[in-house]
Amino acid sequence: MRRLFIGRRPSSVIISLFVSAACLFLCGCAGAGSAQTVEFFAMDTVMRVTTYGKNARAAAQAAQAEVTRLDALLSVEDPQSEIYRLNAAGQAELSGETAALLHAALDITEMSGGAFDITVYPLMKAWGFFSGDYAVPGEDELRELLALVGSDKLIFEGERLNFGLPGMGIDLGAIAKGYASDRAAEVLAENGVSHAMISLGGNIKAVGTSPEGRPWRIAIRDPLDAEAFAGIVLVSDMAVVTSGGYERYFERNGTRYHHILDPESGMPAQKGLLSVTIVCPSGTLADGLSTALFVMGEADALAFWHAHKELFDAVLVTDDGRTLVTSGIAEAFSTEHGFEVVR
Ligand code: ADP
Ligand code: MG
Repeated sequence: MRRLFIGRRPSSVIISLFVSAACLFLCGCAGAGSAQTVEFFAMDTVMRVTTYGKNARAAAQAAQAEVTRLDALLSVEDPQSEIYRLNAAGQAELSGETAALLHAALDITEMSGGAFDITVYPLMKAWGFFSGDYAVPGEDELRELLALVGSDKLIFEGERLNFGLPGMGIDLGAIAKGYASDRAAEVLAENGVSHAMISLGGNIKAVGTSPEGRPWRIAIRDPLDAEAFAGIVLVSDMAVVTSGGYERYFERNGTRYHHILDPESGMPAQKGLLSVTIVCPSGTLADGLSTALFVMGEADALAFWHAHKELFDAVLVTDDGRTLVTSGIAEAFSTEHGFEVVR
């Protein structure tokens, strides 16, 4: 089976003296001239691909087509998609690509001790996150739904997948945009583009450097203020992916319920983190781990980083106002507030 991510330290994170204004992810691109941006809606979010150089426009359009193809393949809501049909039938012969992505997801489930688990689908449905018909499931309902959650209940025979129990389902929402960003970057490379910025609803993939050869400046949103930044990180050839409870949520009786669920309790994960940003070469891994570490909470997330620091770096924003930055990107990170370096 093809592996979708390889363990590599984000060694190309570069320190730069060019941090200044707080504009969104942005090079100071004056003089780059040939920038081309395509903006489109897919995977339930706004996506933007900005490319530079000779074949910029055609390349960006090819990347858009690739992301649109993946949306049609992986959507839980599109009756034509492979995932929708799998969930409806409880079994399917998977395409090689979907099988590979599922195995990448299972690897992250195993690494994360189950904090990340694509079988949360029945829970997501009960909470109303697909339909928009929000509801807080009662204790009995949660108990019944939790019996259907757990990737260990997925039965693979080659590329045939069977659900161990009727009512199970899978949801690739926590990894699909990251995978799409990796594929979009590959398509750009095939089209001769070596400087680009891919932003798929907050899943950033910085391709190469800026056209002037400087690192890309990626702004990490302040989870409490959509207009402000928690910080800026300077990267080249790197995915930067943030998960947070502020992205999708509803309110009932004064309580806010968000869309990242703890597979153990079936409830929105609430372990002291407002957002988790992962920085690593693979968008797939960054997306999966941003969700996983958010579910884990600060102590487990930091223990996980210590055990896997060759794979990724992270920025954690806690609900008591601290910003924690792991040592591999500490020098590439800047903020107007203070931050603690995790070593
Ligand atoms: P976003 O999609 O908003 O960028 P995430 O990458 O964190 O944020 O993915 C959240 C989505 O992943 C949810 O909308 C749901 O589809 C799915 N999901 C929720 N909880 C989990 C979990 N513990 N493990 C895996 N997938 C999850
Ligand atoms: Mg994710």
